[in-house]
Amino acid sequence: MPAWPPAGSGPSPVEGPSRLAGAPWATVRDRLRARGLRWTPQRRELIDVLAASTGHVTGSELVERCRAVDPATVPSTVYRTLHVLEALGLVSHSHGHDGREEFHVLPEVDHGHLHCTRCRRTWELPAGEAALLTAALREARGFAVDLSHLSVGGLCADCRAQLAALGSAGLALE
Ligand SMILES: [Zn+2]
Ligand SMILES: [Zn+2]
Ligand SMILES: [Zn+2]
Repeated sequence: MPAWPPAGSGPSPVEGPSRLAGAPWATVRDRLRARGLRWTPQRRELIDVLAASTGHVTGSELVERCRAVDPATVPSTVYRTLHVLEALGLVSHSHGHDGREEFHVLPEVDHGHLHCTRCRRTWELPAGEAALLTAALREARGFAVDLSHLSVGGLCADCRAQLAALGSAGLALE
């Protein structure tokens, strides 16, 4: 693996403290290097963007946020780095109801998701609430559910109430 920055190249814009790097991110440069990824300006930007992100964020949103800083951002670099960061436990991914990856920054608790296909809202499903489903699948099929990949599409209570008021609740659920 080549040294970064190359010897004699002088100070690189990559070096120096990242703007927002807090404790979990402090060692990320060395941890990425240990995985064979060079510490490049684009990777540092992605770390800054992630450190400033909360909740669920799609890969394309992350690419857009990086492009706002550096228009030359290459999506494949962002995705490859995200997958290594996931192996390091700094991000995790789940899937939206359309299947696209959504990333969680510094995930704390494993959870599933409910997606309303009508209003497009998403709710987190904690392990306790999902236990009815996961326990039933383990019992009936010996299947251990990966909660982070449990994404259930359907209609939320608000949408069902609105549809009932419109008199079309029966149709909407078929
Ligand atoms: Zn996945
Ligand atoms: Zn809804
Ligand atoms: Zn989530």
